[in-house]
Amino acid sequence: MNSPADANAAARATAPATASARRDVEAAGGAGALPVTRADFDRLMVPCYAPAAFVPVRGEGSRVWDQDGRMYIDFASGVAVTALGHCHPAMVRAIEEQARKLWHVSNWFTNEPALRLAARLTAHTFADRAFFCNSGAEANEAALKLARRYAHDRFGAHKMRVVSTLNAFHGRTLFTVTAGGQAKYSSGFGPNPEGFTHLPYNDVAALEAEFAAHGADICAVILEPMQGEGGMRPGTPEYLQAARRLCDAHGALLILDEIQSGMGRTGALFSYMHKGITPDILTSAKGLGGGFPIGAMLTTDKVAPAFSAGVHGTTYGGNPLACAVAGTVFDIINTTEVLDGVKARHALFMEGLKAINVRRRVFADLRGEGVWIGCELDLPWKGKAAEVMKAASDAGLLLLMAGPDVVRIAPSLVISLDEILEGLARLETALNRALA
Ligand code: PLP
Repeated sequence: MNSPADANAAARATAPATASARRDVEAAGGAGALPVTRADFDRLMVPCYAPAAFVPVRGEGSRVWDQDGRMYIDFASGVAVTALGHCHPAMVRAIEEQARKLWHVSNWFTNEPALRLAARLTAHTFADRAFFCNSGAEANEAALKLARRYAHDRFGAHKMRVVSTLNAFHGRTLFTVTAGGQAKYSSGFGPNPEGFTHLPYNDVAALEAEFAAHGADICAVILEPMQGEGGMRPGTPEYLQAARRLCDAHGALLILDEIQSGMGRTGALFSYMHKGITPDILTSAKGLGGGFPIGAMLTTDKVAPAFSAGVHGTTYGGNPLACAVAGTVFDIINTTEVLDGVKARHALFMEGLKAINVRRRVFADLRGEGVWIGCELDLPWKGKAAEVMKAASDAGLLLLMAGPDVVRIAPSLVISLDEILEGLARLETALNRALA
């Protein structure tokens, strides 16, 4: 396309042909608002998701509205992402201001929002250095590559084994599905990267035995402080501390995947802060951008130089728009008011869930930290978490699951108390419908 005339011709070619079609488009808000329905998903999209029957179009705080104007209470926050709810005014302001200044420059240049975000993250964590990317999987990909490269350069090519856990979830790239401990995500794409061992989570003896057998060849242990996707299983302090001790003893790096547990979700800025351990590498995403895609890998001055210029990178990593939003999210979450508020909300959720369970016993266990709660269904209802999630949608509640037996609640960190109570009432309706 060379001239404005060519551009106009192309625009005419893609415009609706008839006057009535044009009126439809204009009524719906212009050419960017062509009418679409949920059925278009099945026709147009690669079928690797099975989204709900309705299409959300608007969100405000912890409420979401669909195309028909129906309101849902949001206990899911886009899978633990919209940590400050939908369209938080400070985030809207941050993105609008940055959108008028600078959108993208690539990593051939640095930019102010990225440097400010790195300064915040390093000032308030164990880390000295940050690497930015666009998603959780990319942050873990960077972490695993960094650990391998660090061990390679310092100890030699033999030190490449990575210890992970059964049921872990670390993302969907080939390296990270292999690090994850769920065959359903990693099989059928082979050959997978080599050198991974998966041990039972929370099993100190298994970890000790693995290091006793292969310590000289292990470059890293990668762990979620609490397994999220794998069933909302908290790591015990003894287990996490044993991982730290064994890594230190064998020159291996401890990678904590805080993609879901971090950015205030458990009531601490990052969950390691109340587990009595410090990682060598930490990965963050999800809540970090509050809904704008961004990932981060944090590490120390000792480890970071293994990624010298050109060894790793990504076009969009450290994008000014993403970093401006994340900086605002960080400043709001990293306050006593929000972090203590998360703990108070935990108490309210647990009280409400226990009361539901007294009225009708449906949960075998209620566990979790902060606004990150797993409700394990009792024996007669095992395998029915998906049905509960569907019934929740019908009752006007956005909900999550963590495996077939666990209903997962991960709302905004600042969900209002009224919305918690309204959401719990809708959850009870959904449980009664799904588990009839
Ligand atoms: N790690 C953990 C612990 C996660 O929960 C997730 C996503 O659910 C990921 C990694 C992958 O993040 P993303 O989907 O942004 O690639």
